[in-house]
Amino acid sequence: MGNYDYLIVGAGLFGAVFAHEAALKGKKVKVIEKRDHIAGNIYTREEEGIQVHQYGAHIFHTSEKEIWDYVNQFAEFNRYTNSPVANYKGEIYNLPFNMNTFNKLWGVVTPAEAQAKIDEQRAVLNGKTPENLEEQAISLVGTDIYEKLIKDYTEKQWGKPTTELPAFIIRRLPVRLTYDNNYFNDTYQGIPIGGYTQIVEKMLDHENIDVEINVDFFANKEQYLKEFPKIVFTGMIDEFFDYKLGELEYRSLRFENETLDMENYQGNAVVNYTDADTPYTRIIEHKHFEFGNQEKTIITKEHSKTWEKGDEPYYPVNNDRNNRLYQSYKKLAEAHKNVIFGGRLGHYRYYDMHQVIAAALQCVRSEIK
Ligand code: FAD
Ligand code: UDP
Repeated sequence: MGNYDYLIVGAGLFGAVFAHEAALKGKKVKVIEKRDHIAGNIYTREEEGIQVHQYGAHIFHTSEKEIWDYVNQFAEFNRYTNSPVANYKGEIYNLPFNMNTFNKLWGVVTPAEAQAKIDEQRAVLNGKTPENLEEQAISLVGTDIYEKLIKDYTEKQWGKPTTELPAFIIRRLPVRLTYDNNYFNDTYQGIPIGGYTQIVEKMLDHENIDVEINVDFFANKEQYLKEFPKIVFTGMIDEFFDYKLGELEYRSLRFENETLDMENYQGNAVVNYTDADTPYTRIIEHKHFEFGNQEKTIITKEHSKTWEKGDEPYYPVNNDRNNRLYQSYKKLAEAHKNVIFGGRLGHYRYYDMHQVIAAALQCVRSEIK
């Protein structure tokens, strides 16, 4: 077993940050990854001179200078600012919900007029504190935006009625009374020039780290548990325990890629289709993340689906039922002193990249003094 201090299961961002920091502190680390490449869901690959985000659009954003400086060690970032647009039956609206959206929808010009319109529409809630995504959305932006830009998109994305989804999901999106189409409020934002894979490659490029791809932990779980003093597990926490308390819910995705013989297909990196009839949630045109002017373009239609065994579990579904079940798994995990659970699947949390880096740094710092 080569006298390793740690076995890291999963070469995604959490596993890579942990491995990198542990290696810098002199620990010997083995990383196993069941896919045929490193970098997990932030994996990008080059095709037609374009960096393709294989597992969906990834835009790095954070307000923490420490995290921004940390990630900038591994790549140079461009000035990309995410400004997706919504296509509702051919009508185009700016996102996130801001004065451009309100002006197009209602013809209002001033923030006071927009606020009055929102207040008038949210009156249907009679002052009730929002308890689910539908109520939260109406409370933030009123019924018109909820009907055209939120309800059907959300039900396609999550496969559940908005009344059965937690309110926090819609609070991810800023609502602004300014003419500002920046999807994020964070201080720092950008796309690594040349893609994300290089970041994980550089993190794992250390003499103390060995990486093996195409290796599934569950093919040899008991042996790994016996032979490695410590394991960092970034896969699904319920799978680790053989689903013995029941299955957590995940959302999976299906990506449909097309290479088109044209320079510019949709004029934006991300277009959301917010109606119920379009089967996909969004179309990504990858070249626009890096302001590309290649002769061809590559687009990806993102379809959301119920996770079944064998699918990639892209999103945890953090409703009350699943959060309670996760807490029970977490108790089991705490009894496994030699296994550290981490990342989006190990913590069953809707983490963005900056949050994964912060969680991994905190974890490795408390683990290795
Ligand atoms: P993962 O990337 O899932 O890595 C876990 C790894 O473990 C995987 O490679 C997996 O194959 C491997 N693994 C699992 N089980 C086993 C096993 N049994 N044996 C061996 N290996 C195993 N974040 C942002 O900040 N900005 C964005 O714009 C953004 N957009 C996103 C869009 C989509 C569609 C999705 C799904 C996520 C997005 N994210 C975004 C979130 C981001 O992808 C995650 O925060 C981050 O990739 C999580 O890293 P991780 O290491 O926790 O998980
Ligand atoms: N959302 C929506 N309409 C949109 C974009 C987002 O209703 O055009 C809602 C939807 O419920 C989604 C949530 O806002 O799940 C969070 O959106 P985000 O873009 O952060 O989702 P992600 O990129 O993580 O899939």
